[in-house]
Amino acid sequence: MNSEPISYAGGCLCGAVRYAASGEPIVSGLCYCRDCRRASGSAFIPFMLFDAAAIHFSGETVQFRSPALRGGEATRNSCPKCGGLVFGGVVGVDEDHTIYAGTLDEPSHFAPVVAIFTRDRPEWVTVPPGLVSFETMPD
Ligand SMILES: [Zn+2]
Repeated sequence: MNSEPISYAGGCLCGAVRYAASGEPIVSGLCYCRDCRRASGSAFIPFMLFDAAAIHFSGETVQFRSPALRGGEATRNSCPKCGGLVFGGVVGVDEDHTIYAGTLDEPSHFAPVVAIFTRDRPEWVTVPPGLVSFETMPD
């Protein structure tokens, strides 16, 4: 590939929490699970998964932990000032991080390929055509 790498940078509403990722996401998709809906107040969360080594965060966050489907805990980070939900995982601990793609500076850089937890999808929200759907979490 000769083209310039796409920049995946973004942050919260007030700008106190920021991130910048290098390289391409491991996977990009839409999550319709109940927890993501409740955490965001929206119909689904668009996400990108990055290796922890490929992403840099700045700014303090508030962490909220909830039981994860596969055991353990899911951690969601939001800005203590504006409340914007920005990313998942514990910085310095987890091997990868979920970025909530609605926070991208350039939202057109997001290209979802999967839809997960479609069993929890409300009937009033559709899955875009062309995505590979999973009832829960793919292996
Ligand atoms: Zn903020």
